[in-house]
Amino acid sequence: MTKKIAVLAGDGIGPEIIREALKVLDCLRHEFGVEVETEQGLVGGVAYDAKGHPLPQETLDLVNSADAVLLGAVGGPRWEALDYSVRPERGLLGLRAELNLFANLRPAMLHPQLVEASTLKPDVVSGLDLMIIRELTGGIYFGKPRGVRTLDSGERIGLNTLIYNESEIRRIATVAFDTAMKRNRQLCSVDKANVLECTELWRDVVTEVGKDYPEVILTHMYVDNAAMQLVRAPKQFDVMVTTNMFGDILSDCAAMLTGSIGMLPSASLDEHGKGMYEPIHGSAPDIAGKNLANPLATILSLGMLFRYSFNQGDIAQRIEQAVEKALDSGLRTADIYSEGCQRVSTEEMGNAVVSALRSQGN
Ligand code: NAD
Repeated sequence: MTKKIAVLAGDGIGPEIIREALKVLDCLRHEFGVEVETEQGLVGGVAYDAKGHPLPQETLDLVNSADAVLLGAVGGPRWEALDYSVRPERGLLGLRAELNLFANLRPAMLHPQLVEASTLKPDVVSGLDLMIIRELTGGIYFGKPRGVRTLDSGERIGLNTLIYNESEIRRIATVAFDTAMKRNRQLCSVDKANVLECTELWRDVVTEVGKDYPEVILTHMYVDNAAMQLVRAPKQFDVMVTTNMFGDILSDCAAMLTGSIGMLPSASLDEHGKGMYEPIHGSAPDIAGKNLANPLATILSLGMLFRYSFNQGDIAQRIEQAVEKALDSGLRTADIYSEGCQRVSTEEMGNAVVSALRSQGN
């Protein structure tokens, strides 16, 4: 049956990088008979400009009718003065909530061709291949009560609540163990159980879920140590699972190990494997419209879409191999450029991936 992808290009470099991913999708259709249709919708600042809201009802209807969502990026200086409730980023949070995307999978993989692009020593990062799984719809970012209040004394207090219930922890732990089973069967759960009772529960529940996965080696680490270990010896990790806020911070840290934010895809999944796929970077207003952005994170996000939502690991692999081939041939967008390589535009990089993909069909 033909699957449907909702495509939301968004703002800034979003339309440029999505255009390249759609070329790849077209090639998959023509060369490999992949049965997929796409429908485009508005999200973020462009949606606000056209419809007065960053996540219009039409877009909600579209994502609900689709089997998966491919997103570019949202936001930019043009919309920064808007009220918080209609800022482009609310569109993104709204999508996560609407689709109940509680599991955020962020692989951090260093492509061997890009060892020089990392700020860490080559022997620390070469061969790096880890997966961070972040809980995305709970924890301190959503907990209530929250806000800034004024006490009777006249002093203001800022307040947020870190809260997780057992079922929220169990479902993200299950995703993490399942992911570890498909990789090297090592899972590190990151918490702050020595200080935060909420994450003491986190540790207990993850350990309980682990009883169903005897083949996975489970370890626990405090978040401060995990941050240190990520930059000291990141290759010790296979899969890491953690709370919303710890995952937010650790996954950006892991991203930088790989040299460029322009290379890293992500998947956000619901309980049934429906997901939203997007590069981890933002809308890069500084380079938008200049044909400079690296489209590979978005193209690799399309690969994750085939692997996790369509269960077509073979197509994901084709995309990944085509990206490797483009890098092997020495082509580099500005963000990953190093001496001796050939500097190319967004469009040229997309074309290189498409021709590498096409050559697999011959
Ligand atoms: P950013 O990720 O957009 O850019 C950070 C730096 O990385 C910039 O120098 C940019 O040019 C560069 N960069 C990012 N993606 C690149 C790519 N594909 N190729 C080459 N270089 C790339 O982060 P920012 O500047 O902090 O945020 C800009 C806007 O994006 C803000 O409005 C922010 O709210 C939004 N944002 C959106 C998302 C999202 O849509 N998921 C995520 C983060 C930030």
